[in-house]
Amino acid sequence: MRVVQNPAKLQTALARLKRQDKKIGFVPTMGYLHEGHLSLVRLARKENDVVVASIFVNPLQFGPREDFKRYPRDFPRDARLLKKEKADFLLAPAAEEFYPKDFQTEVKVTRLSGRLCGASRPAHFAGVCTVVLKLLNIVKPDRLYLGQKDYQQVQVIGQMIKDLGFSVMIRMAPIVREPDGLAMSSRNVLLSKKEREEAPCLHRALCEGARLVKRGVRDAGGLQKPMREILKRAASARVDYLEIVDVRTLRPVVKLKKGQKALLTGAVFFKKTRLIDNELVRV
Ligand code: AMP
Repeated sequence: MRVVQNPAKLQTALARLKRQDKKIGFVPTMGYLHEGHLSLVRLARKENDVVVASIFVNPLQFGPREDFKRYPRDFPRDARLLKKEKADFLLAPAAEEFYPKDFQTEVKVTRLSGRLCGASRPAHFAGVCTVVLKLLNIVKPDRLYLGQKDYQQVQVIGQMIKDLGFSVMIRMAPIVREPDGLAMSSRNVLLSKKEREEAPCLHRALCEGARLVKRGVRDAGGLQKPMREILKRAASARVDYLEIVDVRTLRPVVKLKKGQKALLTGAVFFKKTRLIDNELVRV
């Protein structure tokens, strides 16, 4: 595996491989890798000739009072894990070079970015889109690997790719979980012992919602109430949002219809640490 800091160097190396008609799979991450990230790398490895991963804690997607400084980092360990998974390139740009002082461009997907996470993190998705577009421009992959855990992110990036006419294919991989159901996240290490014990309640609440849908409950209120009850029992949990939304528009669904696909999705603060999770359901 080749670790590259300079995007231009990566482009030179990739151009040569593209001339040989090699297919490129790209896995963007913010590092502090876990099995969720590695599942994306494995899928990319299976489906492509060349695998590029990136590690970049993107300052643009953090709000002023969010956890950019606290965000966990361990580059040597990440590099070892990626090498073990046989990634070919690891792009790890330096923030000052990636965003020089006069950087002033912002990429914004309007409506989708305002919902769910975007409602409580107003600048988040513009930061995500800006970094992803810049990375796509460098790597020009055939396939882009994203996790269902960040479902809204997948939809927003998909919209951007469609609107701007990129030809990259998005591959969304399922959520990888800890044995107790908690969705793996780099942020899980920020939880205290007690918060970590309580954190699986988010997944439990979403599963309860999915179970009730299977049992025939159709109205959002009837689903949300018992889900919230589960979260209330966790003393360290404070709900940011807990919604049932359309899988495409991400708009709230009031009453589920037969055949409809919906997303049960939530964001919960465990004291200072905000975790997200979701379950896809089909009525
Ligand atoms: P991050 O480093 O948090 O920006 O995540 C990088 C990529 O890994 C994103 O596409 C995430 O959706 C994906 N990802 C994060 N956690 C998980 C997980 N538990 N299961 C599957 N994919 C994940």
